[in-house]
Amino acid sequence: MRTHRDDICFVPATELARLYRARKVSPLEVMQAVLARIDAVNPTVNAYVTVARESALAGARRATRLLSRKSSTLPPLHGVPVSIKDLFATKGIRTTACSHVLDGFTPTYESTVTASLWRDGAVMLGKLNNDEFAMGSSNETSHYGPVVSPWRRKGCDAKLIPGGSSGGSSAAVAARLCMGATATDTGGSIRQPAAVTGTVGIKPTYGRCSRWGIVAFASSLDQAGPIARDVRDAAILLKAMASHDPKDTTSVDAPVPDYEAAVGKGVKGLTIGIPKEYRVDGMAPEIEALWQQGVEWLKAQGAKIKEVSLKHTKYALPSYYIVAPAEASSNLARYDGVRYGLREEGSDVISMYENTRSAGFGAEVKRRILIGTYVLSHGYYDAYYLKAQKLRTLIKRDFDEAFTEVDAILTPTTPSPAFAIGEKTGDPLEMYLNDIFTVTVNMAGLPGMSVPAGLSSEGTPLGLQLIGKPFDEETLFRVARAIEEAAGPLARPQDWWSKAA
Ligand code: GLN
Repeated sequence: MRTHRDDICFVPATELARLYRARKVSPLEVMQAVLARIDAVNPTVNAYVTVARESALAGARRATRLLSRKSSTLPPLHGVPVSIKDLFATKGIRTTACSHVLDGFTPTYESTVTASLWRDGAVMLGKLNNDEFAMGSSNETSHYGPVVSPWRRKGCDAKLIPGGSSGGSSAAVAARLCMGATATDTGGSIRQPAAVTGTVGIKPTYGRCSRWGIVAFASSLDQAGPIARDVRDAAILLKAMASHDPKDTTSVDAPVPDYEAAVGKGVKGLTIGIPKEYRVDGMAPEIEALWQQGVEWLKAQGAKIKEVSLKHTKYALPSYYIVAPAEASSNLARYDGVRYGLREEGSDVISMYENTRSAGFGAEVKRRILIGTYVLSHGYYDAYYLKAQKLRTLIKRDFDEAFTEVDAILTPTTPSPAFAIGEKTGDPLEMYLNDIFTVTVNMAGLPGMSVPAGLSSEGTPLGLQLIGKPFDEETLFRVARAIEEAAGPLARPQDWWSKAA
């Protein structure tokens, strides 16, 4: 049952900032309410792997004190409770990438993205569950167990996945266990979990957010971004997270626009592309219908629609699943029992490495290391890795061409609504197919966003994806807000866990 205090957990971040300034509620009251909700809900949802209770309360107290002194000059996220995917290093707070191999690792440094959030006034609640090293599409590969979506199918008790790899972030935002969350996206891990939980997720252009202090999966594809309750919240969170950082040589030295100002600018005059190659075989009719609905909404608001061709789309998934494991196999070489986390002793140093890595990594991570090492090995490098890199260039070129004619591209985010926990774990290839609409964006380094657009026949969320030109996140915010407005307020997940045993 919801208490009066619990109601404050349902207020979006931008609205909360206004309530603070009007002295309607204090950051400390809000923090206490959210922590109480986490206590009640997290045992069922498993979104948090660490709740930083003491530092959250201390931060909220500080924010409350500051508010009583000078409310006019406070930063935009002042006193807003935000949670962090466990892939971001947080100084003094356990950071595990949800892998056994990082057990007991407490960073002595703070990632650039999280430091920027704290600079802008946000207060950390805790660390969120994810697929081990962000490898997965359902949050079922975490060492700390699966995250359970706060959503359920109509009349059915089956536990659903919250998407992955940022499943803790999407579930925590959807279940109102924080006001917003950080996430990372290597092949869809911000957009896909956002789509299946009815939340907004944006992966900005590669280089927009610093990767410094984020546990690396595939360095040429990884980007950080927010998962938020609505488009406006996503805009203020991304504004805080994005920056130029000399510590990440791939971070771009360009001003970060005011994304919130783009929200509400409308879509009049924009041309939206519909890529014909995304009409894949076996796409659920309701996904196809949602896509068409999106087209109608944008047309009605004054956008022009144009079919575009992204010819090499069919190669995106196979080439992604070569490039990403190749980079992962190299990045994960550092977990050797010497520098971080777990150590399993052995008779000599080699057997110590072997024992540590055998015990420390889960099955999916081992599969990626094996594939990655294979495609990089002598004799296979040209046949697989090099070919995948060439395809990557062709995929990027398709987008460059399309963007000479259109301002943004509209597609579904996922080929299906959320599936049940355990439904796809037996078949890795079927699991990889979930990423069919999202990986192209990472391969081309472009910004991509998922916005809730409706519910499936089962009563679970569906999202539409927007793809933009490099560093043109603003257009995505404009189009996303237009879709959000047209879709109207969607149903919220029921608090079914209050009845759970
Ligand atoms: N599902 C994809 C994978 O497993 C993408 C994951 C991600 O974006 N981190 O590689």
